[in-house]
Amino acid sequence: MDTNLNQVFYPANFNDLFSTWNRYPDAVPYAGGTDFLRWQSINIIKLPKVVLCLDKIEELRRITRTEQYLEIGAMVKLNQLFRLGKIVPQILYRCMENIAGVQVRNISTIGGNICASSGLHDLSAVLTALDAQYEIRGANSTTWISAVRFHDKNPLKKQEILTRIRLPLIQWDYSIYKKFPSKDNFLDNLSAEVLVFLARAKKTILTDLRVVYKSGKILRNRNSEDSLMGKNLPLSRKIAFEFVENWKEFLGGRRDVSEFSKNALLKNIEENVFLLSD
Ligand SMILES: Cc1cc2nc3c(=O)[nH]c(=O)nc-3n(C[C@H](O)[C@H](O)[C@H](O)COP(=O)(O)OP(=O)(O)OC[C@H]3O[C@@H](n4cnc5c(N)ncnc54)[C@H](O)[C@@H]3O)c2cc1C
Repeated sequence: MDTNLNQVFYPANFNDLFSTWNRYPDAVPYAGGTDFLRWQSINIIKLPKVVLCLDKIEELRRITRTEQYLEIGAMVKLNQLFRLGKIVPQILYRCMENIAGVQVRNISTIGGNICASSGLHDLSAVLTALDAQYEIRGANSTTWISAVRFHDKNPLKKQEILTRIRLPLIQWDYSIYKKFPSKDNFLDNLSAEVLVFLARAKKTILTDLRVVYKSGKILRNRNSEDSLMGKNLPLSRKIAFEFVENWKEFLGGRRDVSEFSKNALLKNIEENVFLLSD
């Protein structure tokens, strides 16, 4: 065997995948490939030495639905999710609409967007806000981890893959998705920042609120969310104002968010919380 050549394997199932990985410990999983190819405009593209293409593993392409959950295999393409229609939470729809163009969405997968090594991608904010759970498999292990923990610090060990995403099916009364440019890279859609704002109410009582912000990392201010729980809708202007002040204080001391981003974020939070007020 010529060890200088690239090798691409197409395992047909998990046994195949992990036994190949055992033989080639440095092999790299490959989903749609868009993250590998993104910055390569040359004729002969560079790939990792040994590639494990996940395309033939049927289980990774499955989508199932129970009364409470939607389960999505890691190899499901972003555009396939569009075709599922109303069952897909509206916020996820909005997020995917804003990812690249149709051609890229036809080949890039939900698992690739979650695991991309080039930083946090847009789905991370939405899946965190929706309280998604991720299934991770190794040769002898299967574990579930919350999206919030996964995106805080990618826990994938060597020779482990993301296999499934489990989404709770909750109806949100109010769901807003905002994507705005970051200061450092106005032109790069990928390093844009994202705000997810979800709320639901029982009659006129606010019962759930989640506000998630993604820049280089994911931020959530639980204290501000708790302060609105059980409040009557529409919120009073005073309560809405206090919510914005709480966020201002939360962001105040943070060095990992630029002043530019703080201002953009606060403006968006203010806009949205005041939409819930009288
Ligand atoms: C022109 C362009 C514009 C884009 N714009 C946006 C944008 O606006 N917002 C946004 O969020 N993204 C954007 N993207 C990124 C795109 O969404 C990601 O490249 C894509 O989601 C990665 O998916 P993939 O299936 O191609 O993954 P791949 O490129 O195949 O893999 C990505 C990484 O994840 C690893 N991986 C893949 N699947 C698994 C798995 N199941 N388990 C473990 N590791 C895995 C791979 O080893 C690799 O390191 C853009 C990409 C392009 C090319």
